[in-house]
Amino acid sequence: MAVEQFDQVADFLNLTDSLRERCKWPKRFITVTVPILRDDGSTQVFFGHRVQHHLTRGPTKGGLRYHPSVDIGEITALAMWMTWKCALMDLPFGGGKGGIACDPRSMSAGELERLTRRFTMEMIPFIGPEIDVMAPDMGTNEQTMAWMADTYSTHAGHLVSTIVTGKPLNLQGSCGRTRATGHGVAFLASNALHKLGTSVQGASAIVQGFGNVGSHTVFTLASYGVKISGIADVNGAIWNANGLDVTKLRKHVAKTGSIVGFKEAEPIDPALLLQQPCDILAPCALDSVITGENAAQLRCRILAEGANGPTTPEADRILNARGDVFIIPDVLCNAGGVTVSYFEWVQNFQHYRWTEREVITRLETMLQAAFTKVTGYAKRHGISHRTAAQAIAIKTVADAKSARGLFP
Ligand code: NAD
Repeated sequence: MAVEQFDQVADFLNLTDSLRERCKWPKRFITVTVPILRDDGSTQVFFGHRVQHHLTRGPTKGGLRYHPSVDIGEITALAMWMTWKCALMDLPFGGGKGGIACDPRSMSAGELERLTRRFTMEMIPFIGPEIDVMAPDMGTNEQTMAWMADTYSTHAGHLVSTIVTGKPLNLQGSCGRTRATGHGVAFLASNALHKLGTSVQGASAIVQGFGNVGSHTVFTLASYGVKISGIADVNGAIWNANGLDVTKLRKHVAKTGSIVGFKEAEPIDPALLLQQPCDILAPCALDSVITGENAAQLRCRILAEGANGPTTPEADRILNARGDVFIIPDVLCNAGGVTVSYFEWVQNFQHYRWTEREVITRLETMLQAAFTKVTGYAKRHGISHRTAAQAIAIKTVADAKSARGLFP
């Protein structure tokens, strides 16, 4: 998907063959084995990957994912998308992504800590605050980042807070980082509603995923007065046509670990949930969930892509032909996370903490600017928002590569 999208945009930009090849291929693919002691006394070897897509505009930046489906192809696509996301937001980073093929839900805290520390040790020759900076993604969180920072810092002999972002606040994390991605998804969806001339207050939303991105998308949308009609997580989906009480839902999830079983909602088939009528549909869990099979059936006005790669190229073609769904493409829609990660990195270098208000205000200013840039470019050139976002980003990277020249 990532390469197909890239090729289309490279054609649109008329990139020379030389720049096309240099922009496309990742700089480094790193795969390591990560042996750990399981709680039952056995040893298990996991496979960990890190792809550094390009370092032309600064260190690589991107999440670390723990999920059974992780492989080098998936990580490479995600690293490429991170490159476009950082360039679109004009952050001084290239894209990176990492992952370990494992099922974190079946592992104890001790096993996850050993896995994270051993992976960090294996990565030490390849990472650094000016080389590659990781952050949380699916299946990882601020605790994972704290273990990574501790392992790297123990090795260096002093605290290196700039080695990862998405750290806990008491370890020099940034105010607002945890909610940044979901807040950005909701903020951009409300911008899209304004653009369509629809009131935010009373609009309806369906969100797939209730992890970091999904839950904060839900909380911010609800705080704007948007009615949350349905939510899905890995265990199932729930529906309430009158709107879910998100405060009560938050307590239910804290107690049970899932949205399923929430009393003030009905269960619904997760696949059918995506096809219910709503103003905003926000896939915030997995990739490839909007496909050639269901794209024609979507009844949303706005598709806010909180997850990375939720829409397949075939679905994209169907939605573009329909022309009635306002797509906020992933590289723009979920860029809030990497933007506040950038703020965290900057604050750590400054040894200075910004307030939550400063962080959110700067975030919204940057997202608003990118949204205006993408929608304006798309309109001027008569192309989709996704192509516009990637064209702006790829041109930024191509220009930087041209300026640096080809060494030797
Ligand atoms: P997370 O692990 O915190 O949450 C994932 C959520 O998806 C969970 O609620 C899980 O139950 C749900 N889920 C898993 N399988 C599902 C299924 N089959 N159907 C419905 N729900 C399912 O992960 P996250 O950090 O929220 O990341 C979600 C997506 O957002 C990923 O694509 C990630 O790459 C992307 N993203 C995350 C960030 C970030 O800051 N965390 C930033 C940018 C993009």
